[in-house]
Amino acid sequence: MKITIQKTTNPKPIPKDDSKLGFGRIFSDHMFIMEYTAGQGWHDASIKPFQDIPLSPAAMVFHYGQEIFEGLKAYRTADGSVQLFRPEENFKRLNISAKRLVIPEIPVEDCMQALTELVKLDEAWVPHSDGASLYIRPFIFAKDPFVGVRPGNEYYFIIILSPSGPYYETGLNPVSICVEENYVRAVKGGMGFTKTGGNYAASLIGQDEAHNQNFAQVLWLDGIEKKYIEEVGSMNIFFVIGDEIITPELNGSILSGITRKSVIELCQNWGLKLSERRLGIQEVSDAYDRGELKEIFGTGTAAVISPVGLLKWGDKVMEINGNKIGDISAKLYDTLTGIQYGRLADEMGWVK
Ligand code: PMP
Repeated sequence: MKITIQKTTNPKPIPKDDSKLGFGRIFSDHMFIMEYTAGQGWHDASIKPFQDIPLSPAAMVFHYGQEIFEGLKAYRTADGSVQLFRPEENFKRLNISAKRLVIPEIPVEDCMQALTELVKLDEAWVPHSDGASLYIRPFIFAKDPFVGVRPGNEYYFIIILSPSGPYYETGLNPVSICVEENYVRAVKGGMGFTKTGGNYAASLIGQDEAHNQNFAQVLWLDGIEKKYIEEVGSMNIFFVIGDEIITPELNGSILSGITRKSVIELCQNWGLKLSERRLGIQEVSDAYDRGELKEIFGTGTAAVISPVGLLKWGDKVMEINGNKIGDISAKLYDTLTGIQYGRLADEMGWVK
């Protein structure tokens, strides 16, 4: 793929204090952008100064939500080099989302070329402090000016970069979560396994109500029987019950997280008993009563591992591991962040 590069003539100051970065508010100097036109395919790949894009108010994405995205990070290692964590997995997932939303797919090699050239150009924007990173947001949306319901004929694929501060500013503290029994995020046959804006729009009201009650996240149950555990906020979830580590199986309504996949592979490598299976909230509650519920943690690119300290289900509040991070959660966090920041050898071949 030929990428035209137009460098900015007006570079922005790169933030010096990583502790003030926060998340998703600051953008680097450049972006990648490529267009799709029916009959012509993907064309005009370019890297340009970060800028607004002209769109018709009739652009299809505004009306029927034909949009998909990804989220990954670039990490700075101690020797100053920059590395990515399993980026091909994100682009494979982007294409899985594309298929479901009838968006034209993009070869993973082209996505990788776009990303590596962009990150190389804006390399100085990758923060230096431990835990900080350059968040990468690739996305595709339909842009034809047309307000009828059909798949778009024109799309943009864009990648933007945002330097982000450490997720855990005060250390890896367990969060409180509550089971959502009213709203559902996704159903089997729907779009839960994709990263599309609509899934996040569907989740806002439940998250909002949970925040009002001082819970950090909601625990989503399946959309049909409202019995089986699916995800926590926008993370996958794991439970340690006795000597078994359990994560809900991918059933069509759960996003196939890359951190989830990495946790599964690590646990299997360590010889731990790991099951991907259907897990009811009742089973979790019963295990708690028997004293066998040892750890709960969420997994995702943003937090890596997010230990759960309190789980509320109806009137019942379960305190997990004395509201402290468990051994398995801590070992997974240290291993994954160790590989991402180059402190540990990349024995799994995950780093690019
Ligand atoms: N579930 C949802 C709904 C998400 O948005 C995310 C974040 N991408 C995840 C799970 C975790 O996925 P990953 O480990 O690839 O970040």
